[in-house]
Amino acid sequence: MPLDFELSDEQKLVRTAVKTMLAKYLPRQKEILAQSRAEKRFPEELWQEYANVGLTGCLVPEKYGGNNMGLVALALGFEEVTYSGFSPGLLLVIAMDTACIVRNGTEEQKQRFLPKIADGSWKLCFAVTEPNAGTNTFNIETAAKRDGDSYILNGQKTFISGVDSADYMLVVARTTSLEELKEQGKPKSFGMSLFLVDTKSKGIEMHDIAIPLSEELNQFQLFFDDLQVPADNLVGEEDNGIMAMFNSLNPERILAAAICIGMAESALNKAVAYAGERRVFKDTPIGAYQSIAHPLAEVKIALEAARLMTYKAAWAFDNGHNPLEVGSYANMAKFMAADLAVKAIDHAIETHGGLGFTEEVGLISQWSGARLFKTAPVSREMILNYVAEQNLGLPKSY
Ligand SMILES: Cc1cc2nc3c(=O)[nH]c(=O)nc-3n(C[C@H](O)[C@H](O)[C@H](O)COP(=O)(O)OP(=O)(O)OC[C@H]3O[C@@H](n4cnc5c(N)ncnc54)[C@H](O)[C@@H]3O)c2cc1C
Repeated sequence: MPLDFELSDEQKLVRTAVKTMLAKYLPRQKEILAQSRAEKRFPEELWQEYANVGLTGCLVPEKYGGNNMGLVALALGFEEVTYSGFSPGLLLVIAMDTACIVRNGTEEQKQRFLPKIADGSWKLCFAVTEPNAGTNTFNIETAAKRDGDSYILNGQKTFISGVDSADYMLVVARTTSLEELKEQGKPKSFGMSLFLVDTKSKGIEMHDIAIPLSEELNQFQLFFDDLQVPADNLVGEEDNGIMAMFNSLNPERILAAAICIGMAESALNKAVAYAGERRVFKDTPIGAYQSIAHPLAEVKIALEAARLMTYKAAWAFDNGHNPLEVGSYANMAKFMAADLAVKAIDHAIETHGGLGFTEEVGLISQWSGARLFKTAPVSREMILNYVAEQNLGLPKSY
């Protein structure tokens, strides 16, 4: 098949549908976000709109009620949501869980979860990070022990986004402990399993973590105390959760890149508009000065490159390429896009001078939102490690 950079009509339609839908909410955006902040919850009216335009169904096959348009289409939708100044954070965590269920779930799990995800009636979140296991996922200690028809989970998770809005969370736990693996001479990558946990179950304690990033998505520390999970809710094979996890983490990184691209483009357009109007010396717009224009031109070039990388990663995922290959593209896309978003917003602030720091222009709050993506869901240092080891074959230092 020839190389083709055209989006399909369906993909273009997603972009237009999201844009048109959000245009209705833009006049009330400040009010909606303020209400979200006050009530500490995701705006429900917006959630149903996301479902209605098909964003929750992009990764769901038609036989389970989705539209199956794929990750490229979803990434386009994410760009639009972010460009409009809303946050698709909860859509991001639900998309990663959806991909995992579609590729690793049992038929019963697909029938139980996917139609409810696609029509927007169920929200999901993802829980892997622990106080001693962020970058080093293999260090997780949350234990899941089989007990008849259930697993009993004990342990803790941290920085879990959106659990207060979610009906279920996809939890990564150890079915074989690190000590047992040592005795058995097995690698640390073995012994992890994935569970769909009802967030209303007994045995879950939630503590809000104060992170002033997004009005629509809150983070929590969770404690599991004899949390009972039906064995039917194990996703993929016991002890072999690592491969199933790849089917969550790759789309997460690709969609994080799409978010960053939306942020970068919005900041760039704001900066260009201001640079064309603002006059400081005589009648020359500041955009005529190369110290203002060149950084913005560099952002434009990096934006085109990051967008191509992101679409390539999403295309490879949609076409069922090997998860390790998709992982390489996904990591590279997230790396480029996160650096770009921070740079774009920083240059936009510079272009606006003092106004760049005002709430009205909104760039300062966007900067912290963009900065997050250099650290999470995977840090830029770990991406460099991954590329050095996986793509260049260099030795591991840690
Ligand atoms: C707002 C927010 C939302 C989040 N949402 C979720 C969520 O929904 N679910 C979830 O499970 N997690 C979530 N996280 C957790 C996030 O994925 C982790 O914070 C992230 O992976 C980094 O882990 P850490 O914080 O433990 O940092 P650490 O692992 O302590 O790392 C600290 C620093 O050391 C660097 N470092 C560590 N090891 C190496 C090495 N070998 N080489 C080079 N550098 C290294 C890291 O890159 C990092 O810069 C969220 C975090 C935030 C801030």
